[in-house]
Amino acid sequence: MSRSAHPAGPRHADVLPEGHYSAPPADLNALDQKVWAETVTRGDDGVVSVAGIPVTRLAEEFGTPAYILDETDFRSRARAWRTAFGPDADVFYAGKAFLSRAVVRWLNEEGLNLDVCSGGELATALSAGMPAERIAFHGNNKSPEEIRRAIGEGVGRIVLDSFQEIVRVAHIAQELGKRQRVQIRITVGVEAHTHEFIATAHEDQKFGIPLAGGQAAEAVRRALQLDGIELIGIHSHIGSQIFDMSGFEVAAHRVVGLLKDIRDEHGVELPEIDLGGGLGIAYTSADDPREPHEIAKALTEIVTRECEAARLRTPRISVEPGRAIVGPTAFTLYEVGTVKPLDGLRTYVSVDGGMSDNIRTALYDAEYSVALVSRSSDAEPMLARVVGKHCESGDIVVKDAFLPADLAPGDLIAVPATGAYCRSMASNYNHVLRPPVVAVRDGDARVIVRRETEEDLLRLDVG
Ligand SMILES: *Cc1c(COP(=O)(O)O)cnc(C)c1O
Repeated sequence: MSRSAHPAGPRHADVLPEGHYSAPPADLNALDQKVWAETVTRGDDGVVSVAGIPVTRLAEEFGTPAYILDETDFRSRARAWRTAFGPDADVFYAGKAFLSRAVVRWLNEEGLNLDVCSGGELATALSAGMPAERIAFHGNNKSPEEIRRAIGEGVGRIVLDSFQEIVRVAHIAQELGKRQRVQIRITVGVEAHTHEFIATAHEDQKFGIPLAGGQAAEAVRRALQLDGIELIGIHSHIGSQIFDMSGFEVAAHRVVGLLKDIRDEHGVELPEIDLGGGLGIAYTSADDPREPHEIAKALTEIVTRECEAARLRTPRISVEPGRAIVGPTAFTLYEVGTVKPLDGLRTYVSVDGGMSDNIRTALYDAEYSVALVSRSSDAEPMLARVVGKHCESGDIVVKDAFLPADLAPGDLIAVPATGAYCRSMASNYNHVLRPPVVAVRDGDARVIVRRETEEDLLRLDVG
């Protein structure tokens, strides 16, 4: 096991078992449907297509590297979450996973709500017509300007993250002559990653207000006294890339315990509970994610059971999947530039992007898969490492992967499951230009976020 630090806290990191690639797959040309977007197939000529469009044509038309996003898959995942939770719950897509105006429109059409955590995400959401009342505003250090804008626009809820913010939001709402609906984000002492969770008494992290030591109860006490805010519920987000539901079980138990204490102390039953996001996806064939309907059933049962035991009315549940909706819908298309065999070790395959378009491998030791997509090959498998073009030896996209031994410069390779936290975390390191996002659907391809240009770079540099 290995885990590296993340600026947003360890809850956002992944812990992945090592040795996924102990043996080469039986067929290097096969595409595991689990890790590829819905409409991806390999044709009889060996070329991989998405939405009926060969990747060779996409590369010609849009260049490489490029994120290719399957709109059909995005919509069907969004719809599956919406349907699974039904009309008595709310699904908020976590915009930080990947946000663009096209995505906002798809979410709107599919009936999902939207989480934002900065003024930039809020501006994107509003500019694409997401109704403000369907937006939730998150973040552990929202600026007064961001709070003022959010309240002024009429966002559906602000998720309060600290004692100071409770007062700050209440004060700004009052200045604006409004009463803002809010939730309080608490940390319940559950750390969940992938296949395990740890229940702890304390949470050593920057997000939320600890349940431990009566701090969350005190936050509720204060929030209930302030005129500028209306406390509608409690929020908990326990981790990311989670497959095991038992962490949610402990979290729900603890949140409901707080709801019960609030009822006993204040005589109020808060109407909502938000269990956050963090549901896992398949990055490699070794991952086995749950379907939205299983997750919805499990979460609803847990909350209902806990509330019955506490003799509470079951609150309205909301969830915030980001990765689970957008992650599997996109792959990154790269062109191979150099192939460097290191005797007795492995072959380094350099592509025309790298850590600037996918930082997750460097940041979290994340594992990815990769396939040759511009042709099929009958060559032997070779142990490869896919690396980028940056001046950094940690510039790795896929740490261990098998690719055909006849791989050559000019071949196109694709890394699946890069829809979440890749474009949204992309950088300009080495003044490399950020790739476009190309949405494909039913034989059509269109750019939804264009490729950065040198002009873009120079426009920011005012000399
Ligand atoms: C990051 C985050 C999410 C989404 O997490 P995923 O792993 O993408 O599902 C949801 N809610 C909150 C509060 C988050 O910080």
